[in-house]
Amino acid sequence: MKRKLVFATNNAHKLEEVREVVGDSFDILSLKDIGCHEDIEEPGETLQENALIKARYVKEKYGYDCFGDDTGLEVDALNGAPGIYSARYAGGDHDAKANMRKLLKELDGMANRKARFRTVIALILDGEEYLFEGKIEGIIITEEKGSAGFGYDPVFLPDGYAQTFAELGTEVKNEISHRALATKALCEFLKKN
Ligand code: IMP
Repeated sequence: MKRKLVFATNNAHKLEEVREVVGDSFDILSLKDIGCHEDIEEPGETLQENALIKARYVKEKYGYDCFGDDTGLEVDALNGAPGIYSARYAGGDHDAKANMRKLLKELDGMANRKARFRTVIALILDGEEYLFEGKIEGIIITEEKGSAGFGYDPVFLPDGYAQTFAELGTEVKNEISHRALATKALCEFLKKN
């Protein structure tokens, strides 16, 4: 029988991505699959803490081995903001347009536009905790370009590319992105275990 492992998310896109890379070795379950319908809070001060909080919550309350993830956009000229607050940077809830508007306003006139997306995945397996990280460096351009993807994709230009994440589209993005790199690291580990 396949081993069961919970991904502490209900995001269908993230689940599909991980299931594809992990292959047959693990049965990846969502929060919904285990009957967890509550919103897990993320009170940590780092991506690592938040990812661990999610994984520990599921392990403690539901008993399953589990992994959780957290992602942030870190802008150098803003001392790493919005970071763990990326989803709610402009206040309110997950309003990507408002978040981008605020970011472009904060960076108005600034020469240093360096930024990176960073994803941390925390895994609890057989009583041990493991961390995996993926990041991609780039710059924040001065206006939105492209319509694919989500979040800050239209203003993020990855190093070595002439198009934003939103112009490159999901196929390219899923090869090079922070989340893809962290997911690959996790999956390589799982395949060996
Ligand atoms: P989460 O931890 O994956 O939910 O990501 C937190 C927030 O970071 C999202 O709500 C987005 O604002 C931003 N974000 C995460 N990943 C991406 C991405 O691949 N492109 C653009 N924005 C992202």
